[in-house]
Amino acid sequence: MCGALRLSDAGKKAVLMGWVNRRRDLGSIIFIDLRDRTGVTQVVFNRESNAAAHEKASTLRNEYVIAVIGTVKQRDSDTINNNIPTGEVELVVEELRLLNDSKQPPFLPSEAVLPNEEMRLKYRYIDLRRDSMQFNIEMRHKVSKAIRDFLSDQGFFEIETPFMTRSTPEGARDYLVPSRVQPGSFYALPQSPQMFKQILMISGFDKYFQIVRCFRDEDLRADRQPEFTQVDLEMSYPQTGSVWTVVEGFMTAAFKAAGHEIKTPFPRMSYDEAIRRYGNDKPDLRLPEIVDVREALTAEELNELTGKFRMRSDFPVQLIRIPKSGDISGTERRTIGTYGAFQHVQGPSFVQLMTDPKRFAKELATISEKVQSFAQVLPDDLWLLAGAANRPENAAVMDQSVQHFCEKCGFLRLDLAQKYASKHKAFEQMGDPAKDFRFLWVSDFPMFEWDSTEKRWNPAHHPFTSLHEEDMPKLEANIDSVHDPKSPLGEIRALAYDVVLNGTELGSGSIRIHRQDIQKKIFQALGMSDNEARARFGFFLEALEHGTPPHGGIALGLDRIVMILAGAESLREVIPFPKTARAVDLMVDAPTPVSEAQLKELGITVRKSRE
Ligand code: ASP
Repeated sequence: MCGALRLSDAGKKAVLMGWVNRRRDLGSIIFIDLRDRTGVTQVVFNRESNAAAHEKASTLRNEYVIAVIGTVKQRDSDTINNNIPTGEVELVVEELRLLNDSKQPPFLPSEAVLPNEEMRLKYRYIDLRRDSMQFNIEMRHKVSKAIRDFLSDQGFFEIETPFMTRSTPEGARDYLVPSRVQPGSFYALPQSPQMFKQILMISGFDKYFQIVRCFRDEDLRADRQPEFTQVDLEMSYPQTGSVWTVVEGFMTAAFKAAGHEIKTPFPRMSYDEAIRRYGNDKPDLRLPEIVDVREALTAEELNELTGKFRMRSDFPVQLIRIPKSGDISGTERRTIGTYGAFQHVQGPSFVQLMTDPKRFAKELATISEKVQSFAQVLPDDLWLLAGAANRPENAAVMDQSVQHFCEKCGFLRLDLAQKYASKHKAFEQMGDPAKDFRFLWVSDFPMFEWDSTEKRWNPAHHPFTSLHEEDMPKLEANIDSVHDPKSPLGEIRALAYDVVLNGTELGSGSIRIHRQDIQKKIFQALGMSDNEARARFGFFLEALEHGTPPHGGIALGLDRIVMILAGAESLREVIPFPKTARAVDLMVDAPTPVSEAQLKELGITVRKSRE
């Protein structure tokens, strides 16, 4: 291969095949950098020693495909290239075969400057020849293999589940596939193999996994793909902890495949704790947590503080600090809270900020000292206090729950962290896996979440998730309150968990409901009649009645894991043939209209204009 030859090969004969990466014609000598996926070797055509090969070489252009036979030679000391592993040798060509020529490509894989992404996606075959793409795709292979090997060694079977199936319960829109033999009927592409993997447990397979494509027709955000890959698994008779141990095991293997030693077990935190300490259900642990400083103060001090800043003393008074970022101008300080997600999501009126620690220290010296020492503020930190605004008119217009308030503080913390990333540098990888990769399990998510558009409770994960046994009475007492925003349904905790890395959710899972009577109750709580539930999930409910073992599992996004390990900026960098934000494949030009004949066969008429 073109990346293989070393000094120790000098004197040997070699045959190399690959693409012309670069050609330098010095008259009597022509140099070609010959490239394949393993690297580049310099090959030399010398007119004096081999006129025929030299003559032929002068016709070569970028991206021509050639084979060369020659002898490996040590390079003269002044021409050694230390930037590439083959840099000490070159191949002196005796015979050249032109295997194929190439049109002038729209851009060259060897060019450092990238064309725009549309161009890269349209000519993906050229783009994929680039070093970094070859690296990413190789990384993807290694990571998948490590995960497969680990899970197989643990006794998991990789079992395929259908792509042409019926609507699954992940809550996004389905991609539909029309049936020709049953016109008017449609298959749905799976949003996940959820029901199939549960049925595999009912079928006695005990430990299942699959590296599997999932399809969700969602409005695409920057980092989403309509089809994406999950590491999906399910096991019988698990405790939450047994699922976690399996995930920690394959993540260790995956990270090792990419050259990183990570530490397990991952830290654990309940959803409530995550919201309280980070204002976020996927906390980024690379930055300090938020500290409620009320505890540091006497009742009088707290009154003085909240009175001065018109904050509510029955809500947390949050100290948010960003390391190494304290050195900003007064003007910049005054604009804190007017930008980014914080501003966008909440409108500042619910949160009162204290953003001028200097003035604060002057006016309330003791309090300032106390809160700083309580929250372990360092001299070069940027820090501020956030409290819930004490304005009676707020109560009428917004959800003034402590959770809501904490989430807003969480947004502010992340906004500041983004804005001052170049100062605190916590987002840069430093080569220390313990600091670079901050994993976390978040557990005990709420079972239901309020959908304010539809005005109803929906499953926060999916409707097959188990709840905490102690919360069962709450479910039973509120089973008919699906449209009541104040229903205690919101307090019910699920046996659901997320694995989080550096503030990104890598995957979600849960212990499932294995009893049909409980499953029925969940459907009822979700406002689904027996008939409706039967119509949507009938086969599954029936399966549950046939001796279902307790089971649980999880699914992690493979694309995201590879993206992090490859240090890539977007999912598209680690998916060989990705789609754009508008769900278009620019290379094959899909989706497209289809012929009348095809539509007719399917019994489908397409309306010309959107109505
Ligand atoms: N099917 C779920 C999902 O795709 C994961 C799981 O519960 O295992 O999010």
